[in-house]
Amino acid sequence: MSKGFGKIKQEWLDKCVRCGSCRNVCPVFNSTFEEPSVSRGKISLIDIIKKGYGKLDKEVALIFKKCTTCLRCNEICAMDVPYEEIIITAREAATEKFGLFPQEIAATSLLKDENLLNMAGNFSRLAYFVFKDSGSSGNLVSKFPIPGKGTAVVPAFKPGKFNYKNREFEPEGETKGKLIYFPGCMFSRAYTETSKNIVKVLNFLGYKVFVPSDLNCCGAPSLHAGDKKSFLKLKENNVFVLNNFEADGIVTGCATCCHNLKHNYMELNKPVYQFLEILEKHLDDISELKIDKPVTVTWHHPCHIVRGQNIPKNIPEKILNSIKGINYVEMNESDNCCGMGGSFKMVHPGVSDKIQRKKTLNILRTDADNVITECPGCIMNIAEGLEKEGTTINCKHTADILAACLKL
Ligand code: SF4
Ligand code: SF4
Repeated sequence: MSKGFGKIKQEWLDKCVRCGSCRNVCPVFNSTFEEPSVSRGKISLIDIIKKGYGKLDKEVALIFKKCTTCLRCNEICAMDVPYEEIIITAREAATEKFGLFPQEIAATSLLKDENLLNMAGNFSRLAYFVFKDSGSSGNLVSKFPIPGKGTAVVPAFKPGKFNYKNREFEPEGETKGKLIYFPGCMFSRAYTETSKNIVKVLNFLGYKVFVPSDLNCCGAPSLHAGDKKSFLKLKENNVFVLNNFEADGIVTGCATCCHNLKHNYMELNKPVYQFLEILEKHLDDISELKIDKPVTVTWHHPCHIVRGQNIPKNIPEKILNSIKGINYVEMNESDNCCGMGGSFKMVHPGVSDKIQRKKTLNILRTDADNVITECPGCIMNIAEGLEKEGTTINCKHTADILAACLKL
């Protein structure tokens, strides 16, 4: 048996009855039509290796990365196979043996190193000035000319740093509670305006908000790539910082951070909330809001909200429909993965592009002006997909549309 596979319990694998229901919903399988793409195929492969009939080689390691961890298989599985634990542990074994793929090294090194991340933030802000697209959608993308190959569309980040750290923000009226804001790396250094909007909206709803300094990346990219040691190091620091301050809870606007904090940060001494969970408690306050120019919006369910946290699907609709001037339309397959999947997009770009295109076409069919969601990875990937199609549809975070109503 390959070293590291011992941590994968045989009883987890034996739960799978090989029914194949997961094939119907898996976005990767439905793009490749290859059995190893879906959970059933990976489970069979792991079982064979664990029993000594096969070996863990680099090709198998690459197959383990052919999964966006969207959890659609988990959702449909009648046998309760703990697929997320299985795949993360299998990736850990593969990483112990072969190390991370170069794309993952680039991504995880960046996310776990404060100085590197700041440098990348500064670079992307510079790139925004130089290459920013002046197209009609307003999505944050840069278009780089590649000699002989046309134009590459890549995400871009607006100038402006998130300078709210180690500061407390007070609501104007009565205080309803105090929350710690956990920005995560993307909202801390990339989509900084969204972070500011989250704090402002929480203040409007009556919360005092504290933003600690010294918080790291939540570690999900490292954990999902199979680098558990880096994840544990990042987690240790974050738990220390978050437990050190008095508050009623921790709130984040990032689906992946929230899923990770809720499931893997058992040492936290206060509850963790997705931003939209806080919004749902205040529908009366939100119903006072009015958007200047009426817009039609649709919602993309991030995998790590709808399945990772089991937040009911009707909550975003309730929130958006509460705002005067917003016309909500449901998108087909609104809970299908956008194709980002952390480093999946970098390790398997061709498959990721196919999944992204399906999402883009579903958005286009709604005729919405904006697609709203609550995950920076989804925002980045959806914006890129929309730009490739040359649409005028803009992808935003829930906090951005609420802040626009507040005229903040
Ligand atoms: S749905 Fe569950 S039991 Fe059926 S093949 Fe997939 S993982 Fe196995
Ligand atoms: S988590 Fe998603 S991408 Fe991965 S095997 Fe399951 S359904 Fe397919």
